[in-house]
Amino acid sequence: MIRVEHLTKRFGDLTVLKDIHVEISRGEVISIIGPSGTGKSTFLRCLNLLEMPTSGHIYINEEDILDKKTNVPALRQKMGMVFQSFNLFAHLTILANLTLAPVKLLGKDPADAERKAMELLRMVGLGEKAHQLPEELSGGQKQRVAIARCLAMEPEIILFDEPTSALDPTMISEVLAVIRRLAREGMTMAIVTHEMDFARDVSTRVFYMDEGIIYEEGPPEQIFDHPREEKTKAFINRVRSFGYHILSPDYDLYAMNAEMDQFCEKHALSRKTTRNVLLLTEELITLQQTRGLLADVRIGLAYSERTRSLELSFDTPGAQMNLTDEQNSDDDIGLSIIRNLTSEVRYRREGDRNILECSVRNAQ
Ligand code: ADP
Ligand code: MG
Repeated sequence: MIRVEHLTKRFGDLTVLKDIHVEISRGEVISIIGPSGTGKSTFLRCLNLLEMPTSGHIYINEEDILDKKTNVPALRQKMGMVFQSFNLFAHLTILANLTLAPVKLLGKDPADAERKAMELLRMVGLGEKAHQLPEELSGGQKQRVAIARCLAMEPEIILFDEPTSALDPTMISEVLAVIRRLAREGMTMAIVTHEMDFARDVSTRVFYMDEGIIYEEGPPEQIFDHPREEKTKAFINRVRSFGYHILSPDYDLYAMNAEMDQFCEKHALSRKTTRNVLLLTEELITLQQTRGLLADVRIGLAYSERTRSLELSFDTPGAQMNLTDEQNSDDDIGLSIIRNLTSEVRYRREGDRNILECSVRNAQ
């Protein structure tokens, strides 16, 4: 359905896409992953000519779309695009947002367009919202409208550019559920996403983009479980981390908690997990305080998206001592709270520092 050969794209001196070769067949669901700035958006934008490629060929159903004779509006209609920001018309009702282009661009009969639009709104769970304005909807609902609007143009393929990146964590799943449904119904799609679990179970193939090329591609089992390239492996196993340095007992507890809170939210961890992490930190700090001065304490959080594990490290100076060892503490309640919140606590000595690595229990 789509064949890309020797595709390159330069912005001035910057070569973003070096030499891309790829074929996408009808009914495939392709997830495109990779570090930011590696040209994922540019690649999608080249496919529907929102960006003009510098050189190379793109064939859609064997038609070379870089040929001067190509009817670009007709091509764009075949390729729907859903962006991070929903781009709905704020002054039009949800229904009017869906019927505008089919009536204006495809010359559809308004009554037919409306019937089809209602059908699509029901399909994305928003039949009730037809007569409301975009501002009355949540982010997740707006993105579902944007998907329905795209479907109203009856595209042959839909390109999604990080469709859930602008959403609150609580709204991500409702949008992914709609995309999953389209996948089940056989829609051809290419999706740039950071949602690894979703990419794993929705895709027929995954493209890992890096250094201006499709660095590695394969079925999800290969890319996520047995990547062949070192760079892919490093990306898949990357751990997102956070650090806070307590300098003195006068540290700003609220600022630290707010930063931890933000870290958890960014990784879509639940409120319960967030509370547990804050509580665990507080108990460790209390234990440390009873041991003497609270100074030069380093607190780290690391979250691995692949294994969904959350680790808290608590790194303190001083003579060798494991804070969480019962012999070293009279605070039985504190210790039992720490035990409840963790599945494992490992102690190690490094130079003159005591390091505790705590695996947070049931992080989700
Ligand atoms: P990704 O989507 O993988 O994060 P992008 O495709 O957005 O990456 O961008 C790849 C590179 O191209 C980045 O370095 C970005 O700054 C650059 N870039 C993207 N669009 C333009 C543009 N219109 N003009 C100049 N540079 C651009
Ligand atoms: Mg992008």
